[in-house]
Amino acid sequence: MEMLDIVSKPSKFLKHFKVDVEGELEDYEDWWFEEGLKISENIDRLGTPHLRMFDRFGNRIDEILYPKEYWDMLYRGYKLGVVADPIESGNLLKFFKIGYITSFFDPGLYCPYTVSLSTAIPIYKYAPEEIREKYLERMLRRDEEVWQGATWMTEAKGGSDLGNTVETLAEFDGKFWILNGEKYFASNVGAQLAVVAARFKGEGKGVRSLGLFLLPRYRENGELNYFIRRIKDKIGTRSVPTGEVELKNSQAYLLGDKNNGIYIILEVLNISRVANAVGSVALAQRAIYEAYIFAKERFAFGRKVLEHPLMKRQFYDRISLIMKAFALAWESAIMLNGVFLEKPPYSNFYHAFRLLAHLAKFWTAEISVQTSKWSMEVNAGMGVLGEYGVERLLREAMILPIWEGTPHRQVLDALEVIVRKDAHKHLYEHLKDYDPEGEILKIGEEIKSLEEEKRETLADIYISQLAERVSNILIKKYFS
Ligand SMILES: Cc1cc2nc3c(=O)[nH]c(=O)nc-3n(C[C@H](O)[C@H](O)[C@H](O)COP(=O)(O)OP(=O)(O)OC[C@H]3O[C@@H](n4cnc5c(N)ncnc54)[C@H](O)[C@@H]3O)c2cc1C
Repeated sequence: MEMLDIVSKPSKFLKHFKVDVEGELEDYEDWWFEEGLKISENIDRLGTPHLRMFDRFGNRIDEILYPKEYWDMLYRGYKLGVVADPIESGNLLKFFKIGYITSFFDPGLYCPYTVSLSTAIPIYKYAPEEIREKYLERMLRRDEEVWQGATWMTEAKGGSDLGNTVETLAEFDGKFWILNGEKYFASNVGAQLAVVAARFKGEGKGVRSLGLFLLPRYRENGELNYFIRRIKDKIGTRSVPTGEVELKNSQAYLLGDKNNGIYIILEVLNISRVANAVGSVALAQRAIYEAYIFAKERFAFGRKVLEHPLMKRQFYDRISLIMKAFALAWESAIMLNGVFLEKPPYSNFYHAFRLLAHLAKFWTAEISVQTSKWSMEVNAGMGVLGEYGVERLLREAMILPIWEGTPHRQVLDALEVIVRKDAHKHLYEHLKDYDPEGEILKIGEEIKSLEEEKRETLADIYISQLAERVSNILIKKYFS
């Protein structure tokens, strides 16, 4: 039963992988056990923050209303430097450690941190100097005055195929880029800044005519610069408001070179895909923990449920699985740390990172869903009742495969980076000391050798196989 102890706290699991989480991060975890979890459960049960659209005089204000405790919960991460530390130190790992601990309790709350960092990084890398100076400092505050970010690409006609479905248009007026259009899934809506995908007016469809724009909440004259049409009613991640946003002659700034828009958009998505992978494992760990605390007390057929051989084996299998999933997620975080300041054209190591990030996003989210479902089965009747929180884990988990790109997109993009950039070769270079049989190369070459239609047809099967093999290889890296 010793092995089960590592699932009882996020910090124990992280330490098992020799990730340093001493001091303030352990205090943060303690706060979650003592106070945070109750706040988070209330927000989940009572509903997501809501929208006040007009003031009493009929003026549009689009204010999101939160319970006070929400802010206590949210600011804790900013105070720890969840966004400030990575930008100031040039090292992203604290962001992922905070994300792991946060997601164990509330994966939805990791979203505001993730989209804020995914806004701060392109400002840091690509904004003109005066814009960077004006906005970045506010995002790096470690108090209640901190400015949050958001990342809005998806429109009503679809989020996977941005080249065809983004209809928001951008036109330069000599001072600002003026945006007109709508965003259909806009998480952390109400944020002071957002990065938004829009199409350069008159340039036709396709990914090449897309750019990434920085959109402040307020116009230069203090009026609203984007409008919130409504807040979505979601099955999970209810602690982050996801809205529909209208852009009406909104003032924005172009980030980076006009010809690199799609690459910069993908850079933003890659940060949140890795965060999603880290958060997915944390949620799966929590699900195992919730199964454990029930099974170690509940009796059936004269023994504690946990002591039945079938159950014992399943617990060990689940823990082995999340260890492999963590190895995949953490390695993608480490690799992102090495490439997040790169700009196009990218290094081979960046392509290796992209492949690993797709594997991690795809595979860990699936494990999170399956493990939450299994935890519900272990808790059985008690698992489906709203009052005990286990059903929440499954609801939260169901979002993880979908946002930041669906499983279909992840596996198809993984194929693309193998075929077009030989990413499997670069990933093999990175991990060859732990892959003596060259398994990464073999699977990658097999994928390349397939005729295109067949390759797409079998994408999920091949990419699952590759993710599984790479995770085994990484376990050797972390524990040999
Ligand atoms: C809670 C929540 C919050 C979100 N927040 C944000 C946000 O803040 N910002 C943002 O930009 N987006 C956000 N999204 C949107 C999310 O990124 C999209 O839902 C996702 O990218 C998929 O887009 P879609 O829902 O439009 O599905 P579609 O793109 O319409 O896809 C429909 C189906 O077709 C499949 N499909 C597409 N192409 C292929 C293919 N080539 N082969 C096989 N199958 C394919 C998809 O996988 C999916 O199963 C959020 C979503 C959720 C659920």
